[in-house]
Amino acid sequence: MINFHILTIFPELFKPYLNESILGKAIYKELLSVDLYDIRKYTTDKHNNVDDKPYGGGPGMVMAPQPIVSALEDALKRKSKEKTLVIFLSPGGKDFNDKRAIELSKKYKDIVILAGRYEGIDERVKKVVKDRGFRLIELSTGPYILSGGELPSLTIIDAISRKIEGVLGKTESLEENRYGPGLPSYTRPENFKHKGREYKVPKVLISGNHKKIDEWRRDHTKK
Ligand code: SAM
Repeated sequence: MINFHILTIFPELFKPYLNESILGKAIYKELLSVDLYDIRKYTTDKHNNVDDKPYGGGPGMVMAPQPIVSALEDALKRKSKEKTLVIFLSPGGKDFNDKRAIELSKKYKDIVILAGRYEGIDERVKKVVKDRGFRLIELSTGPYILSGGELPSLTIIDAISRKIEGVLGKTESLEENRYGPGLPSYTRPENFKHKGREYKVPKVLISGNHKKIDEWRRDHTKK
């Protein structure tokens, strides 16, 4: 069981994705949980502002530390320092990949994700997390800049969840572990016809020779 805690100004964006399919079932089966913290609810000023102008000038706005730190304190309440990880999302962070998903799924019970917007989150929030004695990692889901941390958060939750025992069906997870990512798949018909062309399934996959099929699959995935 892993508990995810997402700090965001757009909690509603998460709900449709989390309610469906594999993640929806996993949450229902209590193999994981996702708590959403609406950062705006933690503001103390009368306009409920979550952002402000950047020191040093420049366009854009920066997410102010106070509401995020207050939400963070809420998320970190009664959490073990050993078994909790705080993820600071940033396009400049370390690469998030399947290897890291496996590592995090094994190490942590609670994963807190700070989903930024605008020009990002005030840097001092990282220092607060460290001073509170919690582990922090800055992660990027890829070499591009998105408008916010909602999609990266869902990407991370989804990828880590697939590594939790029971989330995938037995055969599905066996296949994933045996061949690694990028396994080419085919289904019926054996010969798919489209605009006068024929698209055939590789012969080996219909040969019934399991040893050869296994070899072919190993040769056609990225290790
Ligand atoms: N000015 C920031 C920079 O250069 O790092 C970009 C901020 S981006 C517009 C807003 C937020 O989206 C970030 O704070 C982060 O939470 C999220 N984000 C955008 N791209 C991301 C990526 N590739 N990986 C992880 N988070 C990302």
